[in-house]
Amino acid sequence: MSATLAKFFDDVAAGIGLGPTVDRATVEALRGELTTVLDAIGDHLPADAPTLTLTKGRIRAVLACETGALAANEVIPQVTAPMMLGHLVDRVVASYVLTGTVPTDPFEHAVDALRAERDERAISWLDGADTDAVRELRADLADRAARVESSWPLVSSEWWPRLEDPARIPFARRRLILSGRFDVMLGGRATPLPLVIVEIKAGAATAIHQPDLYWYALLGALRDHVAPRVVAVWSAADGITTTAPITADALHSAAMRVVAAAERWIEVLSGREPKITAHPGCRWCALLEVCETGQRWSPDAALDEDWLDDEVDTGDDA
Ligand code: SF4
Repeated sequence: MSATLAKFFDDVAAGIGLGPTVDRATVEALRGELTTVLDAIGDHLPADAPTLTLTKGRIRAVLACETGALAANEVIPQVTAPMMLGHLVDRVVASYVLTGTVPTDPFEHAVDALRAERDERAISWLDGADTDAVRELRADLADRAARVESSWPLVSSEWWPRLEDPARIPFARRRLILSGRFDVMLGGRATPLPLVIVEIKAGAATAIHQPDLYWYALLGALRDHVAPRVVAVWSAADGITTTAPITADALHSAAMRVVAAAERWIEVLSGREPKITAHPGCRWCALLEVCETGQRWSPDAALDEDWLDDEVDTGDDA
């Protein structure tokens, strides 16, 4: 379902477009089932392997192509211009949510925020980028910042917005961790408003991102023992808000997807020959130059946006 962001907030406050309340017993039962399964799967992680941290990107990658996922797992993903734009847009939105205004110079503001956060990967990419790349990034960010100004309503403190909110859920004696970060979490707990999550995309949201919305709902439910009523993705490329009301079935299907990804990761990390499967994200794969399967994927169907994970895990458990 698509709407403007202002309508989304109005609807949520009025109780429209929400999933049915998933009661705490259902969330706890799901958490219990997932713990049993992931504890058992995690016990098969080779003793000399590091902790397996499953992020949104690692789940998506291994389910798409095991060979490409393994290749990406060997290195910390390179920062790319689309990924950088995503980081910058997140900072502009954060500033808007907190102050109600878009910074006068969105680029300088967002870069300053990254420096203040000591985001070394992003800073080093920016410091090494050539003039043309920075000019293009500035222009793209200015375009997205204008869309923040025209799309985002003022977010009152009643919503209790939490920005860049991390979640890390350990299983299997901390050998397997589910990890993510909510761009904007609002409502719930002490507020009179329903708990909702809003994810920010610098590019356009596509159907390929739909499972990610349920992933965020699952992660939120596991961390807070309360399921969000709806997860939305707002696209800074077109200003469109796409929403996914959350039900018990949605949480369950997200859990099954996590289990499938965990099984595949542990099998290939234990030495099983990884499968090779072409998919729309092949253009971002480190092996594309030497992979005939990936090269045969139609460029028309390839993703323009970055496929790699923008939530690189840097936690102590990684
Ligand atoms: S290019 Fe595509 S098919 Fe080939 S290994 Fe990478 S992700 Fe897999």
